[in-house]
Amino acid sequence: MPILSLQNVTKNYFTDDQPVRALNNLSLEVSRGEFVALVGRSGCGKSTLLSLAGAMDFPTSGAVLVDGVATTSLRDDALAKVRREKIGFIFQSFQLIHTLTVFENVELPLLLLLAGKRNAREIARERLSWVELDELGRRYPHQLSGGQMQRVAIARALVQSPAILLADEPTGNLDSKTGEEIVWLFHELHEKGNTIVLVTHEPKLAARCPRAVRLVDGLIVADGKGRDVALANAEALGAETLAAFHAAQAAAQAGQRLP
Ligand code: ADP
Ligand code: MG
Repeated sequence: MPILSLQNVTKNYFTDDQPVRALNNLSLEVSRGEFVALVGRSGCGKSTLLSLAGAMDFPTSGAVLVDGVATTSLRDDALAKVRREKIGFIFQSFQLIHTLTVFENVELPLLLLLAGKRNAREIARERLSWVELDELGRRYPHQLSGGQMQRVAIARALVQSPAILLADEPTGNLDSKTGEEIVWLFHELHEKGNTIVLVTHEPKLAARCPRAVRLVDGLIVADGKGRDVALANAEALGAETLAAFHAAQAAAQAGQRLP
């Protein structure tokens, strides 16, 4: 049984003038333990796909199943439960609560799940160690670097051992070295058995994922090995992106750390 299944999903947004078709009868399955990159030009529907997968919005038609649960037929409260229990979502802008410490940010979802306070503390501590932030639990978000903030957000997304981790451009607000470290962390989480779907506009990051899916105008136009799909995407994005992609591949072959 797939962890994530989108079946003939169409999503129209209705603004004041014309409807926008963000996803066009799209189907996608992600199995347990997969690590999938979603790539494509800005506006092709990546965030829409992720928000439907994350039970944050409903499709106009079609079905979405997360860990076997058809989220498209749930009411708001049941949907919120699926979101809390099955989905870990990571945003480009981190979305930390600035009045809470690092530790409290990670602990909060567990308290909402009514885990015992002591249990919650232990789990929060463990997740912070997974992202190597054991020492910084008492700081506030504004006392962290961008990369550290994203690590906190990742720790928070992992507290309830979600069935799937969804990350929308998690490196988009980070410099390229810090972004690489964050992607490295996703690879470690994948090795631990997590199922991950990651949106990235950087072909070199997508190239390292075992599988990549490319969207054009709300449709899947390629689905295969990360390296192959990322190359096609870089070509479509133009000479500059393609050159950067080849430079990154050459650097990797020259022995720089590759997951
Ligand atoms: P991507 O993440 O690949 O950049 P999005 O999924 O955000 O693409 O957007 C897909 C299309 O849907 C775009 O044309 C975008 O303008 C439109 N869109 C996204 N969200 C909304 C919204 N809330 N209201 C109206 N149009 C939207
Ligand atoms: Mg987007």
